[in-house]
Amino acid sequence: MILPPLQYLRPASPAEAVTMLSDVAGSVVLAGGQTLLNMLKLDLAQPSALVDVHRIDGLRGVRTADDGTLVIGAATTYASLAAVHGHPVADMAAGLVDRQVRNRGTIGGNCCLNDPTNNFPPLLSALGARFRILGVAGERVLPADEFFLGTLATAVRPGELLTAIEIPPLPDNAVVTHEHLQVGADSWALARAVVRLDVVDGVVIDARVFLGAVYGSPLRLPEVERHLVGAAVAPSLADVAGVLRDVDAADDVHCSAAYRREMAEVQLRRALLAAVQRSTR
Ligand SMILES: Cc1cc2nc3c(=O)[nH]c(=O)nc-3n(C[C@H](O)[C@H](O)[C@H](O)COP(=O)(O)OP(=O)(O)OC[C@H]3O[C@@H](n4cnc5c(N)ncnc54)[C@H](O)[C@@H]3O)c2cc1C
Repeated sequence: MILPPLQYLRPASPAEAVTMLSDVAGSVVLAGGQTLLNMLKLDLAQPSALVDVHRIDGLRGVRTADDGTLVIGAATTYASLAAVHGHPVADMAAGLVDRQVRNRGTIGGNCCLNDPTNNFPPLLSALGARFRILGVAGERVLPADEFFLGTLATAVRPGELLTAIEIPPLPDNAVVTHEHLQVGADSWALARAVVRLDVVDGVVIDARVFLGAVYGSPLRLPEVERHLVGAAVAPSLADVAGVLRDVDAADDVHCSAAYRREMAEVQLRRALLAAVQRSTR
């Protein structure tokens, strides 16, 4: 459909963007536009103004801080992220959808949308990421479990801007794997599993396990983690995925809860097996 008239604003800095967002009622952030523009065309959103942040230098790029933290500007595209070789976020970005979406879509947009099927929320949760949010009143830094609040909901309030995502350094003994099931090349994920294992002398000393696309927000699996910690790294670790038979899963137009639960178990089993293979290589 043809869009109704709306203002297009292009701030030069994060601070200016935040001022515009708070001064102009009904304004929203435009990042890669890969979701927002489709929402406008379908009349699912009616903002008065778009505050385009994707050219702001201070919001783009990836750097490693002195303590090894990976600092990713919120408007960094998947294509730029894919160039950071050897990190799980780069692997995820490189495999995302197609070239057009990778060239325009941003990691900040992916997180701020918090579509349950999106790739990054469960991965960033498993990596212990922190989210930097700027507003006119100042800055807040939130861990993933306080940032992702539910389907299409995050802690970013109207007038605020996600500026960066910080990922603590990954120790050499950590392996991170992810698996998902989607129907069709550029369709929604029906179930996604992300596993992070820290391994010393063939034994799991720490585990962070999340599902995506099963509930509104990334779902942590503490029971699975408890089974994994202290266990020897062997293919039998994958059997822990069996506990998913008892968890609830969303029932929607894409598939039944029973199918989603079974597919989540399959993805978790695969992710665990991949982690075992990687850590015994
Ligand atoms: C054909 C197709 C297939 C896709 N498949 C997948 C897929 O398999 N997996 C996947 O993860 N994604 C998929 N996507 C979605 C894509 O990843 C989007 O890029 C992403 O969801 C939104 O990022 P964006 O930069 O385009 O944000 P936009 O569309 O510009 O914005 C999305 C929302 O986030 C808000 N926002 C954006 N940046 C900020 C910020 N810095 N601070 C505050 N609010 C902000 C906007 O106001 C808006 O509400 C697909 C998209 C398309 C078109």
